[in-house]
Amino acid sequence: MAINSLKKIKNFHNKVVFLRVDFNEPLKNGKIIEDHKIRAGLESIKFLMSAGARLVIATHLGEPVKQAAAFSTKPLAARLKILLKAPVKFIPQAVGSTVNAAIKKMKPGEIIFLENLRFHQGEYDNDPKFAKELAANADIYVNDAFAVCHRAQASVSAIKKYLPSCAGLLLEQEVGALQKILKPKKPLVIIIGGAKIKTKAPLISKLYPKANQILLGGALANNFFKFQGYEVGKSLVDDDSAASVKKFFKNKKLAAKIILPIDVVVKNKKGEARVKKPQNVAKDDRILDIGPASISLYAKYIKKAQTLAWNGPMGKFEEPSFKHGTLAVARLIASRASGRAYGIIGGGETVAALKLTKMEEYVDWISTAGGAMLTYLGGGKMPGLDKIAK
Ligand code: ADP
Ligand code: MG
Repeated sequence: MAINSLKKIKNFHNKVVFLRVDFNEPLKNGKIIEDHKIRAGLESIKFLMSAGARLVIATHLGEPVKQAAAFSTKPLAARLKILLKAPVKFIPQAVGSTVNAAIKKMKPGEIIFLENLRFHQGEYDNDPKFAKELAANADIYVNDAFAVCHRAQASVSAIKKYLPSCAGLLLEQEVGALQKILKPKKPLVIIIGGAKIKTKAPLISKLYPKANQILLGGALANNFFKFQGYEVGKSLVDDDSAASVKKFFKNKKLAAKIILPIDVVVKNKKGEARVKKPQNVAKDDRILDIGPASISLYAKYIKKAQTLAWNGPMGKFEEPSFKHGTLAVARLIASRASGRAYGIIGGGETVAALKLTKMEEYVDWISTAGGAMLTYLGGGKMPGLDKIAK
């Protein structure tokens, strides 16, 4: 892997660095309810501060269609200031005269934090004009926002036309961790669940030759049950899943590696949780978790793995009666990953589920990315990594 790393650049002193981070944290009534992305970004920021850079930090927040107070990055700047224990000056614009003037006044080691990049349509459109405006006052571009590297957007893609570019420390670690999945120590066991097969199918297609087993769960598995002709009742399925599932089953080598749940937990028409064989699901049932026999089966594979990659909950773990499959798998992976296997976990809900087990520290790498991780492992386009990492 060739990474154009921040660490290779010798002289940041007094240079204006445009640092693209992903601080897209969940907010509720203007309050940050989770700050692990900001914490994960501290390493690069501290590195650049002590190297004497004049640091211009920018992120997106949510997917605003126009400027709106609820999407302002101001609370993120405030949280960064607290975590960093250093001044962070928020500028209520991403480009323009106020930004330019603030940058001119900066001294080495100082930080300004820009308003939401996505208040500008040019960001979404990868517009070179907007990218040029972002780059206008900077000397160097640093991308530490791995989670948006699958997007062709101005601050992760077009901006590189105008500035020498390199990878931030978090981005470097993210790519390094995923490389361990692409060149795994075997057995490699991949665990995939969650919803929306479309986002997960490329990863299965690309990685199956390297994997020993691909354990499936969550709503994803329902598509396979349906394809096999089982009743899935009111369970969540993707309408357009048949084509990808058919492709998987036709590919004998791939099909042999796919392990489906051998029992499921359904919510029946009375609202009770019941364990059933997948072939016995009734019309009024809703499959919401994998069952205990599936957990023991998956445990056997996880306990033999040298490399583990997990994305997507095994069930609707947000409902207490249907959390057990997901939490059991999270604990199994964390236990195995603590020294005996290399374990990586990614995806918004997947990481939230892991946190419920309080076993985060046992996992080798918790990705800040969901979509970007799936795209990278699935061999998709990563415009944010061009010129930065191969
Ligand atoms: P991640 O964000 O970790 O990538 P996904 O977005 O793919 O994961 O999916 C997570 C969501 O899938 C969870 O909110 C969970 O409730 C839901 N889910 C998982 N299994 C089921 C199921 N059997 N039925 C309905 N929803 C499910
Ligand atoms: Mg999700």
